[in-house]
Amino acid sequence: MQLFTLIEEREHEQVVFCSDQKSGLRAIIAIHNTSLGPALGGTRMWAYTSDEDALTDVLRLSRGMTYKASVAGLNLGGGKAVIIGDPNKNKTEALFRAFGRYVEGLAGRYITAEDVGTAVRDMEYVRMETKYVTGIDKALGGSGDPSPVTAFGVYVGMKASMKELTGSDSLRGKRIAVQGAGHVAEYLCKHAAKEGAKLFISDIYGDKAKKVAEGVKAEVVDPEKIYDVEADIFCPCALGAIVNDETIPRFKFKIIAGGANNQLADEAKHGKALIEKDIMYAPDYAINAGGLINVYNELEGYSQERAMKQAEGIYDTMLRIYSISKQNNIPTYEASNRLAEQRVASIGRLKSIYAGKSQFVGRLGENDFGKK
Ligand code: NAD
Repeated sequence: MQLFTLIEEREHEQVVFCSDQKSGLRAIIAIHNTSLGPALGGTRMWAYTSDEDALTDVLRLSRGMTYKASVAGLNLGGGKAVIIGDPNKNKTEALFRAFGRYVEGLAGRYITAEDVGTAVRDMEYVRMETKYVTGIDKALGGSGDPSPVTAFGVYVGMKASMKELTGSDSLRGKRIAVQGAGHVAEYLCKHAAKEGAKLFISDIYGDKAKKVAEGVKAEVVDPEKIYDVEADIFCPCALGAIVNDETIPRFKFKIIAGGANNQLADEAKHGKALIEKDIMYAPDYAINAGGLINVYNELEGYSQERAMKQAEGIYDTMLRIYSISKQNNIPTYEASNRLAEQRVASIGRLKSIYAGKSQFVGRLGENDFGKK
């Protein structure tokens, strides 16, 4: 493995390998870019088949976090961690506390949170060893469930997409096909229904779909049929890679705008296929940034009202993305990447201006998060 070639390929700043044999900890922390602020990203626990797979995953995911934070207008960089192990078998207090000590050792360059394979309870162990952890339980003074803020961001992003397409952002009478009836979908459906949208909902668990549908007078659709619904908007709120070779030919949607991560199975190929079908795609990491906005607010001393207000900014962000896409004749996901890169370059540069000593604020007791 050409270690430095891999690290340099995506321009990472720092990669930390953490090993504690007694607790069984094998973890990699990747810090991609800290131009905008400390690198924030969750810790994924996964039974990777090789160390190389784990490294590739953490490098890819941490880079994605730089883009997500930047496009959301946050003072955060991109980072991520992976713990190599089976989340159903290898979790112990000692393992997470050992991991927490490595995070603490980075002195705030990396802030962690839960992710696939880790839960709030695991993060409580991490928090015993470091203050650089976020997305913690409300009972412990954290921000709790991010879904209401994520859903609100998706809702306003959906409205911006409608505005771009029709000149009006109203969802009244619009038909929306929602995949997944989980946390994000439930809040999202309430916003859309309140505005008079006609909703179609699917979930692999029929009772979940039924429960959400009842609250918003939606029609329940078989999970396999959701791609065929005659709707204006497709709102993926379950899995990734659902925009693919098999599903695209079935789409009659005009807009895809949803909360799920990594919606395009192949960004370049399927981004292009959507343009050819005249389907407007709201880049997933830009429209679902409400979750990140939520944990960012926790670092500053949490207020849901402020988090919601910031998530409202996703409306303008989406309009800017569509404008860059049109002006440069590039797919929307590429326009979003460009917007993110521009902000990293232009705001990151400002750190070269000496601004004197600032007053440190925030839950973490220091201020890279906004000055008062
Ligand atoms: P969730 O687990 O509460 O809900 C997901 C739902 O999708 C579940 O009810 C599940 O049964 C259903 N589902 C799974 N496979 C399905 C399929 N093939 N067809 C239909 N339904 C299916 O998750 P959530 O918190 O609502 O998040 C939804 C998506 O948004 C995820 O991809 C998540 O990564 C992403 N996301 C969530 C947040 C957040 O704040 N929760 C933030 C950013 C991104």
